[in-house]
Amino acid sequence: FEAELETQKDLPCTTLDGTDISLMVNTGLLTDVYRSLDRGAEGVGLYRTEVSFMMQERFPSEAEQTVIYRQQLEAFAPRPVTMRTLDIGGDKALPYFPIEEENPFLGWRGIRVTLDHPEIFLVQIRAMIRASEGLDNLRIMLPMITSVSELDEALHLVYRALFELQEENVPVTMPEIGMMIEVPATVYQTRAYASRVDFLSVGSNDLTQYLLAVDRNNPRVAGLYSSFHPAVLTALKYIVDVAAEEGTPVSICGEMAGDPAGAVVLVGLGYDTLSMNSASLLRVKSMLREIDMTWARDLAAEVLTLEDPLVIKSTVELALKDAG
Ligand code: PEP
Ligand code: MG
Repeated sequence: FEAELETQKDLPCTTLDGTDISLMVNTGLLTDVYRSLDRGAEGVGLYRTEVSFMMQERFPSEAEQTVIYRQQLEAFAPRPVTMRTLDIGGDKALPYFPIEEENPFLGWRGIRVTLDHPEIFLVQIRAMIRASEGLDNLRIMLPMITSVSELDEALHLVYRALFELQEENVPVTMPEIGMMIEVPATVYQTRAYASRVDFLSVGSNDLTQYLLAVDRNNPRVAGLYSSFHPAVLTALKYIVDVAAEEGTPVSICGEMAGDPAGAVVLVGLGYDTLSMNSASLLRVKSMLREIDMTWARDLAAEVLTLEDPLVIKSTVELALKDAG
Protein backbone atom coordinates (compact mmCIF):
# COMPACT_ATOMS: atom_id res chain seq x y z
CA PHE A 1 0.00 0.00 0.00
CA GLU A 2 2.84 2.36 0.92
CA ALA A 3 4.52 1.50 -2.38
CA GLU A 4 1.29 2.25 -4.20
CA LEU A 5 1.13 5.66 -2.53
CA GLU A 6 4.72 6.33 -3.62
CA THR A 7 3.59 6.22 -7.26
CA GLN A 8 1.37 9.24 -6.53
CA LYS A 9 4.19 11.59 -5.73
CA ASP A 10 4.72 13.07 -9.17
CA LEU A 11 1.07 13.00 -10.22
CA PRO A 12 -0.94 16.24 -10.12
CA CYS A 13 -3.49 16.69 -7.34
CA THR A 14 -6.48 16.97 -9.63
CA THR A 15 -9.97 15.64 -8.99
CA LEU A 16 -11.72 13.43 -11.56
CA ASP A 17 -13.50 16.44 -13.08
CA GLY A 18 -10.21 18.35 -13.47
CA THR A 19 -10.22 20.68 -10.44
CA ASP A 20 -6.71 21.40 -9.14
CA ILE A 21 -6.18 21.34 -5.39
CA SER A 22 -2.89 22.68 -4.02
CA LEU A 23 -1.26 20.49 -1.44
CA MET A 24 1.23 22.28 0.79
CA VAL A 25 3.23 21.08 3.74
CA ASN A 26 3.61 22.13 7.36
CA THR A 27 7.27 22.25 8.42
CA GLY A 28 9.31 23.04 11.49
CA LEU A 29 12.59 21.22 11.19
CA LEU A 30 14.81 20.95 8.16
CA THR A 31 14.18 17.18 8.06
CA ASP A 32 10.51 17.93 7.27
CA VAL A 33 11.68 19.80 4.21
CA TYR A 34 13.41 16.89 2.50
CA ARG A 35 10.54 14.53 3.28
CA SER A 36 8.04 16.98 1.80
CA LEU A 37 9.98 17.58 -1.38
CA ASP A 38 10.06 13.82 -1.88
CA ARG A 39 6.33 13.68 -1.54
CA GLY A 40 5.54 16.39 -4.05
CA ALA A 41 4.52 19.31 -1.80
CA GLU A 42 3.77 22.44 -3.83
CA GLY A 43 5.21 24.71 -1.17
CA VAL A 44 5.11 25.34 2.55
CA GLY A 45 1.72 26.40 3.89
CA LEU A 46 3.00 26.74 7.44
CA TYR A 47 6.57 26.93 8.68
CA ARG A 48 6.42 26.99 12.48
CA THR A 49 9.39 29.21 13.33
CA GLU A 50 9.05 28.52 17.06
CA VAL A 51 10.34 24.96 16.53
CA SER A 52 13.89 26.13 15.88
CA PHE A 53 13.62 28.69 18.72
CA MET A 54 12.67 25.84 21.07
CA MET A 55 15.89 24.02 20.29
CA GLN A 56 18.22 26.88 21.27
CA GLU A 57 19.43 28.12 24.63
CA ARG A 58 18.69 31.78 23.94
CA PHE A 59 16.90 33.84 21.30
CA PRO A 60 18.70 33.20 18.00
CA SER A 61 20.29 36.36 16.61
CA GLU A 62 19.20 38.00 13.36
CA ALA A 63 22.16 36.40 11.56
CA GLU A 64 21.39 32.96 13.01
CA GLN A 65 17.73 33.23 12.09
CA THR A 66 18.65 34.35 8.59
CA VAL A 67 20.65 31.13 8.07
CA ILE A 68 17.79 28.95 9.34
CA TYR A 69 15.15 30.68 7.20
CA ARG A 70 17.37 30.66 4.13
CA GLN A 71 17.56 26.85 4.28
CA GLN A 72 13.77 26.58 4.17
CA LEU A 73 13.36 29.18 1.43
CA GLU A 74 16.17 27.76 -0.71
CA ALA A 75 15.00 24.16 -0.41
CA PHE A 76 11.56 25.07 -1.79
CA ALA A 77 12.34 27.89 -4.22
CA PRO A 78 10.65 28.84 -6.46
CA ARG A 79 7.75 27.35 -4.52
CA PRO A 80 6.23 29.58 -1.83
CA VAL A 81 7.25 29.24 1.81
CA THR A 82 4.79 30.63 4.36
CA MET A 83 6.75 31.61 7.45
CA ARG A 84 4.73 32.18 10.57
CA THR A 85 6.06 34.65 13.07
CA LEU A 86 6.84 33.30 16.53
CA ASP A 87 3.85 31.50 18.08
CA ILE A 88 5.01 30.79 21.62
CA GLY A 89 2.82 30.65 24.70
CA GLY A 90 -0.10 28.22 25.01
CA ASP A 91 1.59 24.82 25.08
CA LYS A 92 4.81 26.04 23.45
CA ALA A 93 7.43 27.36 25.85
CA LEU A 94 10.96 28.55 25.28
CA PRO A 95 13.32 27.39 28.04
CA TYR A 96 14.93 30.85 28.12
CA PHE A 97 11.66 32.83 28.06
CA PRO A 98 9.40 31.37 30.75
CA ILE A 99 5.74 32.36 30.80
CA GLU A 100 3.81 31.41 33.93
CA GLU A 101 0.04 31.71 33.67
CA GLU A 102 -3.13 30.09 34.96
CA ASN A 103 -4.66 29.80 31.49
CA PRO A 104 -1.85 29.72 28.93
CA PHE A 105 -4.12 29.09 25.95
CA LEU A 106 -6.11 32.20 26.83
CA GLY A 107 -3.08 34.19 27.76
CA TRP A 108 0.07 35.64 26.37
CA ARG A 109 0.45 33.79 23.10
CA GLY A 110 1.59 34.32 19.50
CA ILE A 111 1.18 37.85 18.21
CA ARG A 112 0.28 39.06 21.72
CA VAL A 113 3.82 38.27 22.89
CA THR A 114 5.58 39.70 19.86
CA LEU A 115 3.54 42.93 19.78
CA ASP A 116 4.56 43.45 23.43
CA HIS A 117 8.16 42.76 22.37
CA PRO A 118 8.52 44.49 19.02
CA GLU A 119 12.30 43.98 19.17
CA ILE A 120 11.76 40.19 18.91
CA PHE A 121 9.25 40.66 16.08
CA LEU A 122 11.40 43.12 14.12
CA VAL A 123 14.52 40.94 14.29
CA GLN A 124 12.49 37.99 13.04
CA ILE A 125 10.94 39.91 10.14
CA ARG A 126 14.33 41.36 9.17
CA ALA A 127 15.86 37.87 9.20
CA MET A 128 13.05 36.49 7.03
CA ILE A 129 13.39 39.28 4.49
CA ARG A 130 17.19 39.04 4.37
CA ALA A 131 16.93 35.27 3.98
CA SER A 132 14.67 35.69 0.96
CA GLU A 133 17.12 37.84 -0.99
CA GLY A 134 17.06 36.83 -4.64
CA LEU A 135 14.50 34.06 -4.07
CA ASP A 136 11.23 35.93 -4.00
CA ASN A 137 9.23 33.06 -2.43
CA LEU A 138 8.67 34.38 1.10
CA ARG A 139 5.20 34.77 2.59
CA ILE A 140 4.84 36.04 6.14
CA MET A 141 1.97 34.82 8.31
CA LEU A 142 0.75 36.20 11.64
CA PRO A 143 -0.62 33.88 14.36
CA MET A 144 -3.32 34.42 17.00
CA ILE A 145 -4.68 37.72 15.69
CA THR A 146 -7.86 38.59 17.62
CA SER A 147 -8.50 42.22 16.70
CA VAL A 148 -7.99 44.33 13.59
CA SER A 149 -5.80 46.73 15.57
CA GLU A 150 -3.31 43.89 16.22
CA LEU A 151 -3.10 43.18 12.52
CA ASP A 152 -2.60 46.87 11.74
CA GLU A 153 0.14 47.12 14.36
CA ALA A 154 1.90 44.01 13.07
CA LEU A 155 1.67 45.25 9.46
CA HIS A 156 3.12 48.54 10.56
CA LEU A 157 6.12 46.74 12.10
CA VAL A 158 6.62 44.67 8.95
CA TYR A 159 6.71 47.86 6.86
CA ARG A 160 9.13 49.38 9.33
CA ALA A 161 11.49 46.40 8.99
CA LEU A 162 11.29 46.65 5.19
CA PHE A 163 11.99 50.36 5.31
CA GLU A 164 14.96 49.93 7.64
CA LEU A 165 16.50 47.26 5.44
CA GLN A 166 16.05 49.47 2.42
CA GLU A 167 17.81 52.30 4.27
CA GLU A 168 20.66 49.86 4.93
CA ASN A 169 20.84 49.14 1.20
CA VAL A 170 19.71 45.54 1.56
CA PRO A 171 17.85 44.59 -1.62
CA VAL A 172 14.31 43.83 -0.50
CA THR A 173 11.26 42.50 -2.26
CA MET A 174 7.87 42.90 -0.71
CA PRO A 175 6.70 39.56 0.70
CA GLU A 176 3.06 38.56 0.67
CA ILE A 177 1.60 39.04 4.14
CA GLY A 178 -1.22 36.99 5.58
CA MET A 179 -2.72 35.94 8.87
CA MET A 180 -4.23 32.94 10.54
CA ILE A 181 -7.91 32.68 11.26
CA GLU A 182 -7.81 30.62 14.45
CA VAL A 183 -9.44 32.77 17.12
CA PRO A 184 -13.24 32.55 16.74
CA ALA A 185 -13.58 36.34 16.98
CA THR A 186 -11.73 36.71 13.67
CA VAL A 187 -14.23 34.49 11.86
CA TYR A 188 -16.91 37.16 12.26
CA GLN A 189 -14.54 39.79 10.90
CA THR A 190 -13.24 37.72 7.99
CA ARG A 191 -14.20 40.50 5.58
CA ALA A 192 -12.21 43.17 7.41
CA TYR A 193 -9.15 40.93 7.55
CA ALA A 194 -9.51 39.71 3.96
CA SER A 195 -9.46 43.30 2.73
CA ARG A 196 -6.17 43.98 4.56
CA VAL A 197 -4.00 40.94 3.81
CA ASP A 198 -2.73 39.03 0.78
CA PHE A 199 -3.93 35.68 2.09
CA LEU A 200 -5.72 33.99 4.98
CA SER A 201 -4.99 30.60 6.47
CA VAL A 202 -7.35 28.80 8.82
CA GLY A 203 -5.76 27.12 11.84
CA SER A 204 -8.35 24.45 12.46
CA ASN A 205 -6.51 23.13 15.55
CA ASP A 206 -6.93 26.32 17.52
CA LEU A 207 -10.20 27.31 15.88
CA THR A 208 -11.68 24.01 17.07
CA GLN A 209 -10.14 24.33 20.53
CA TYR A 210 -11.45 27.85 21.03
CA LEU A 211 -14.87 27.42 19.41
CA LEU A 212 -15.61 24.33 21.50
CA ALA A 213 -13.78 25.47 24.65
CA VAL A 214 -11.89 22.17 24.63
CA ASP A 215 -8.16 22.06 25.38
CA ARG A 216 -6.60 20.46 22.30
CA ASN A 217 -4.07 18.55 24.45
CA ASN A 218 -6.21 17.37 27.37
CA PRO A 219 -6.98 13.61 27.05
CA ARG A 220 -9.88 13.90 29.46
CA VAL A 221 -11.84 16.04 27.02
CA ALA A 222 -10.34 14.61 23.83
CA GLY A 223 -13.70 13.00 23.00
CA LEU A 224 -15.26 16.46 22.81
CA TYR A 225 -12.59 17.81 20.48
CA SER A 226 -13.77 17.46 16.88
CA SER A 227 -13.25 19.60 13.81
CA PHE A 228 -16.39 17.93 12.45
CA HIS A 229 -18.51 19.79 15.03
CA PRO A 230 -21.24 21.67 13.13
CA ALA A 231 -20.10 24.95 14.67
CA VAL A 232 -16.62 24.45 13.25
CA LEU A 233 -17.94 23.44 9.83
CA THR A 234 -20.29 26.44 9.73
CA ALA A 235 -17.38 28.74 10.59
CA LEU A 236 -15.20 27.13 7.91
CA LYS A 237 -17.95 27.63 5.32
CA TYR A 238 -18.44 31.26 6.28
CA ILE A 239 -14.71 32.02 6.08
CA VAL A 240 -14.24 30.48 2.63
CA ASP A 241 -17.37 32.19 1.25
CA VAL A 242 -16.44 35.65 2.51
CA ALA A 243 -12.81 35.30 1.43
CA ALA A 244 -14.02 34.34 -2.06
CA GLU A 245 -16.28 37.41 -2.19
CA GLU A 246 -13.29 39.56 -1.25
CA GLY A 247 -11.04 37.78 -3.75
CA THR A 248 -8.56 36.85 -1.01
CA PRO A 249 -6.95 33.40 -1.19
CA VAL A 250 -7.68 31.22 1.81
CA SER A 251 -6.01 27.97 2.78
CA ILE A 252 -6.19 25.69 5.79
CA CYS A 253 -3.21 24.41 7.77
CA GLY A 254 -4.61 22.56 10.79
CA GLU A 255 -4.60 18.78 11.27
CA MET A 256 -8.05 18.53 9.70
CA ALA A 257 -6.53 19.06 6.24
CA GLY A 258 -4.30 16.00 6.61
CA ASP A 259 -7.13 13.63 7.43
CA PRO A 260 -8.80 12.34 4.22
CA ALA A 261 -12.28 12.77 5.77
CA GLY A 262 -11.41 16.33 6.81
CA ALA A 263 -9.83 17.09 3.44
CA VAL A 264 -12.84 15.97 1.41
CA VAL A 265 -15.19 18.13 3.49
CA LEU A 266 -12.85 21.12 3.15
CA VAL A 267 -12.62 20.74 -0.60
CA GLY A 268 -16.40 20.37 -0.77
CA LEU A 269 -16.80 23.58 1.24
CA GLY A 270 -14.62 25.42 -1.28
CA TYR A 271 -11.05 25.25 0.06
CA ASP A 272 -8.60 24.74 -2.81
CA THR A 273 -5.35 24.83 -0.80
CA LEU A 274 -4.62 22.39 2.01
CA SER A 275 -1.48 22.35 4.13
CA MET A 276 -0.57 19.28 6.17
CA ASN A 277 2.20 17.21 7.69
CA SER A 278 4.40 15.55 5.08
CA ALA A 279 3.22 12.11 6.24
CA SER A 280 -0.34 12.90 5.05
CA LEU A 281 0.45 14.31 1.61
CA LEU A 282 0.26 11.18 -0.51
CA ARG A 283 -2.75 9.73 1.26
CA VAL A 284 -4.78 12.93 0.80
CA LYS A 285 -3.66 13.27 -2.79
CA SER A 286 -4.65 9.72 -3.73
CA MET A 287 -8.09 10.32 -2.20
CA LEU A 288 -8.62 13.66 -3.99
CA ARG A 289 -7.58 12.17 -7.34
CA GLU A 290 -10.46 9.73 -7.06
CA ILE A 291 -13.33 12.04 -6.24
CA ASP A 292 -15.53 14.34 -8.23
CA MET A 293 -16.05 17.95 -7.07
CA THR A 294 -19.82 17.81 -7.48
CA TRP A 295 -19.87 14.78 -5.21
CA ALA A 296 -17.63 16.51 -2.62
CA ARG A 297 -19.83 19.64 -2.69
CA ASP A 298 -22.97 17.57 -2.22
CA LEU A 299 -21.34 15.71 0.66
CA ALA A 300 -20.28 18.96 2.34
CA ALA A 301 -23.77 20.40 1.88
CA GLU A 302 -25.28 17.26 3.38
CA VAL A 303 -23.06 17.24 6.47
CA LEU A 304 -23.79 20.93 7.05
CA THR A 305 -27.37 19.90 7.77
CA LEU A 306 -26.34 17.34 10.42
CA GLU A 307 -26.09 18.17 14.10
CA ASP A 308 -23.72 15.71 15.69
CA PRO A 309 -19.92 15.61 15.21
CA LEU A 310 -19.74 11.81 15.42
CA VAL A 311 -22.57 11.34 12.93
CA ILE A 312 -20.92 13.83 10.59
CA LYS A 313 -17.55 12.11 10.79
CA SER A 314 -18.96 8.66 10.18
CA THR A 315 -21.15 9.94 7.32
CA VAL A 316 -18.06 11.31 5.60
CA GLU A 317 -15.98 8.20 6.26
CA LEU A 318 -18.72 5.95 4.98
CA ALA A 319 -19.17 8.06 1.86
CA LEU A 320 -15.43 7.87 1.17
CA LYS A 321 -15.44 4.12 1.66
CA ASP A 322 -18.43 3.68 -0.67
CA ALA A 323 -16.69 5.81 -3.26
CA GLY A 324 -13.85 3.31 -3.17
C1 PEP B 1 -3.64 25.62 14.09
O1 PEP B 1 -3.90 26.22 15.14
O2 PEP B 1 -4.48 24.96 13.46
C2 PEP B 1 -2.28 25.65 13.52
C3 PEP B 1 -2.04 25.17 12.33
O3 PEP B 1 -1.27 26.15 14.28
P1 PEP B 1 -0.63 25.43 15.56
O4 PEP B 1 -1.06 23.97 15.50
O5 PEP B 1 0.84 25.60 15.43
O6 PEP B 1 -1.22 26.18 16.70
MG1 MG C 1 -2.59 27.65 16.03
